[in-house]
Amino acid sequence: MLWMLKWTPHILLVSAIIGPWIMGEHQWLSFIALAILVLLIVKKTKRFVRCKECKKWLTMQNIGTELTGSNDIYVRVENETRSERTGEVTSRTEQHIPGTRKSYETTYRCKNCGAERYWTTMKDSANI
Ligand SMILES: [Zn+2]
Repeated sequence: MLWMLKWTPHILLVSAIIGPWIMGEHQWLSFIALAILVLLIVKKTKRFVRCKECKKWLTMQNIGTELTGSNDIYVRVENETRSERTGEVTSRTEQHIPGTRKSYETTYRCKNCGAERYWTTMKDSANI
């Protein structure tokens, strides 16, 4: 269920784009949400669509990802208890379970000048 937490903002954003559009009301909300989504995507990919060295566009190629480290961590998990009758959440408990944080480094290389850039990503997973 951890993936759900990770994608919640995206799901909300997509609903904000589609929702008003379908209902035919407050369509300006769709435009704002769409603008935010585009901004998020641009922010995430910007550094790799243009080579910093030779200033060429779309020359950065992903040449591979490797595992650079892994640490033992505790992952926070939220458990919800729901009432069987109404389906409403009656209580929430937080739990910390052992997990692993893996760091990956992705290398991008420019097709044109050969300049390299690195991008580090982390991935947390629970040890269940
Ligand atoms: Zn280049």
